[in-house]
Amino acid sequence: MSSNRSADVVIVGSGPAGSTFARVLVDEFPGLRIVMVEAGPSTGEPPGRHVNTISDLDLKAAAQRASEGPDPEHRSGPPTIGPGPARPGTFLVDRDGEMPAAAMSSNVGGMGAHWTCACPPPGDGERIDFLPRAEFDSLFAEASTLLGVTQTAFEDAPLGRELRAALGAHFDDGRAPDRKVQPMPLAVTVRPDGSRYWTGTDVILGEVASSPSFELLAETLATRILHDAGRATGVEVRSLRTGERSTITAGAVVVAADALRTPQLLFASGIRPAALGRHLNDHTQVIALARLDDRFIPTEARTRPKQAGGPLEGYSGVSWIPYDRNSFPFHGQIMQMGTSPIPLGDVEEPWPGSIVGIGLFATKHIREDDRVEFDPAETDGYGLPRIRLRYQLDEVDQQTIQDAISWADRIAHMIGSPLGGPPRLLPAGSSLHYMGTVRMGIADDGTSVCDPESRLWGLENVFVGGNGVLPAPTACNPTATSLALAIRAARALGRGLKDRSVDAA
Ligand code: FAD
Repeated sequence: MSSNRSADVVIVGSGPAGSTFARVLVDEFPGLRIVMVEAGPSTGEPPGRHVNTISDLDLKAAAQRASEGPDPEHRSGPPTIGPGPARPGTFLVDRDGEMPAAAMSSNVGGMGAHWTCACPPPGDGERIDFLPRAEFDSLFAEASTLLGVTQTAFEDAPLGRELRAALGAHFDDGRAPDRKVQPMPLAVTVRPDGSRYWTGTDVILGEVASSPSFELLAETLATRILHDAGRATGVEVRSLRTGERSTITAGAVVVAADALRTPQLLFASGIRPAALGRHLNDHTQVIALARLDDRFIPTEARTRPKQAGGPLEGYSGVSWIPYDRNSFPFHGQIMQMGTSPIPLGDVEEPWPGSIVGIGLFATKHIREDDRVEFDPAETDGYGLPRIRLRYQLDEVDQQTIQDAISWADRIAHMIGSPLGGPPRLLPAGSSLHYMGTVRMGIADDGTSVCDPESRLWGLENVFVGGNGVLPAPTACNPTATSLALAIRAARALGRGLKDRSVDAA
């Protein structure tokens, strides 16, 4: 084993969370040397770019395939409604377990190279109650800026405005202006030629990617965090290209390796607080198809050619019905097909964009027993402890699901007619938003893994990032919220390193 590298901070995982840590540390704490290690390969140039920005469809498919991990049996396949293969760019984690659709991505950019880019702010009831509201809102705004979030990417979509007006007539009464029906905040930039550049981690990193103080090691697996007397001293890594093992000594370590593999690496490192992997929380997701009423389809939209498999057309974009804990305790997305996970199957679209997916995400009743477990006697395709998922829907969840099904059906009738049968509950894990496994808390009382600045209880220079940190039962897509927390954590980390260097001087 060689030990030939050192850094101020080693970041494990190059997804949106790890990239946010890197961006804040390099921008705000000049002089720090950051090494980021990523198990997966780089799948595009610039590294971390979203696959939807790759216009050559063969290259896009190759980038997706390269992100699907080491085990061919767990890779993606044609979409189905029931438990089926993973979605493109992802691979299944524990397909015979209690969360059969749970999946992850292994590539530079992580799932952030494959995501749908929806970035809604959480509403009352979804927020983390112990974080000051104004501070969280300000961090969320910063995260949205890093992600390039906009609500105008589909403002010219011929079907969107009318559709939202129809939904608003049912939902808007009594809601605050920022919680009325509106275009989904999306992480996408509309370029001068009208094309859309979906946000990957290339956007989050910006110029940091080429900074001399930042180094990205792709195809490099972190196998263990080295620690002694309450402090991490470095990270043991293995090159997946050459098999060579080495150690990177570090002043601090960030683990942002997704909500399933962050606890995996901590477990493999002998860091096993009581709440590690517990309180696993994934949205239950109900989905329906609807054919829009002809009144929503302007004449010019009835003649557009369809571009199967081509770049996403701006028919209606994604409309958002925000969560409202009293009147509508769901996060609602009305998506033109192509941004929706439901396959159209044999259904023919009369006009392009005239069939929409209605997706309702609900909060999970959080239970300690829903968890990621590791079997040290068995290993996964990377040689780390195998992940098993324990996950049950209790009677509270069953009631929530019934309510979501009934709401999805009502929404289908509000905007047109239901298609393809009644609304369905997608298999557990389908939302790809796993939360809670390294959750934040205000006290080291066995119910949380890190403090409100994302610092591990008991290891003062190890920080965690990503959706696993979220302790609250959110219904909305969590990535922007996780990045807000990562910004907060990166600042705490940077300040801590600065204070130590002053003390040492
Ligand atoms: P990831 O993006 O998963 O990155 C983690 C990285 O860590 C991976 O690249 C992995 O290879 C690496 N890693 C893991 N273990 C190790 C190790 N031991 N050593 C080295 N590297 C390691 N979220 C939303 O909020 N809105 C959406 O609209 C949305 N849509 C989605 C649609 C799809 C199809 C997918 C796949 C995801 C979607 N998500 C969405 C989820 C979103 O992409 C994730 O929340 C986000 O990417 C999480 O960021 P992360 O950095 O925590 O983890």
